[in-house]
Amino acid sequence: MTVLSIMCAAMRLDLVNKCGSIVHCTGKGSDMITREQFYKSKQWEAFRKVIIQQRTDEDGFVHCCECGKPILHKYDLIVHHKQELSEANVNDAMVSLNPDNVECICFRCHNKVHERFGFNKSAPTSYKKHVYIVYGAPCSGKSTWVHENATQDDLVVDLDNIWQMISINERYSKPAALKHVVFEMRDKLYDIIRYRSGKWHSAFIITGGAMKGDRDRLAQRVGADDLIFIDTDQSVCLDRMHTKGLSSAQMDDWKKFIIDWFERYQSD
Ligand SMILES: [Zn+2]
Ligand SMILES: [Zn+2]
Repeated sequence: MTVLSIMCAAMRLDLVNKCGSIVHCTGKGSDMITREQFYKSKQWEAFRKVIIQQRTDEDGFVHCCECGKPILHKYDLIVHHKQELSEANVNDAMVSLNPDNVECICFRCHNKVHERFGFNKSAPTSYKKHVYIVYGAPCSGKSTWVHENATQDDLVVDLDNIWQMISINERYSKPAALKHVVFEMRDKLYDIIRYRSGKWHSAFIITGGAMKGDRDRLAQRVGADDLIFIDTDQSVCLDRMHTKGLSSAQMDDWKKFIIDWFERYQSD
């Protein structure tokens, strides 16, 4: 046994102990937690942090186990369970909190890995219909990221697209007269996602989400599995604004939107 694995074993015990105390807080009267509770737990968060630290190379990056490329953004870094977690094994720390059972993988490869097991009914957990909320400042690169990661069977909800599709107006032109319809359409899509109706695989909802309360409410409303924060610096957002082909009047508005977003932003 190496020093590292001894450390991991000790940490595992510590995590399991902490796990015990969290369970009492849920008031379920049982010492078992669900898979969903696990992925939202402080234990998983702490374990994940240690794994990422341990697997960061001298260059400061974690490399994807599948494609070997450095993972440049933390929102692209997934700590994936090789033996997938189910309600049956999630309380077994040798599965859920075992460093040997996790690998660091980029978002894109992660989806492929899960697809390899199939979006099928026999999968131990319903990885099918994963719902992501992708949030960040205007011009932070949210839709670019979704374009890089979504597949053709995925649902994408982008308010700017809805505005554009129901009128003759150019992108980013948003007359007040159409606002009600745009929001009705968006809400209809949220309901489709909430009830998981249709045959799509994953859904990506693009939103500003500066306020923590707003994004948490949205996550609750659609039953989101993950919130992905595209954490781009304000200066980069302001630079990118110039690549959007905006008129100078729109440019002034966007500058305001960006600055306003950063002023309102609340971290988790
Ligand atoms: Zn990869
Ligand atoms: Zn996974």
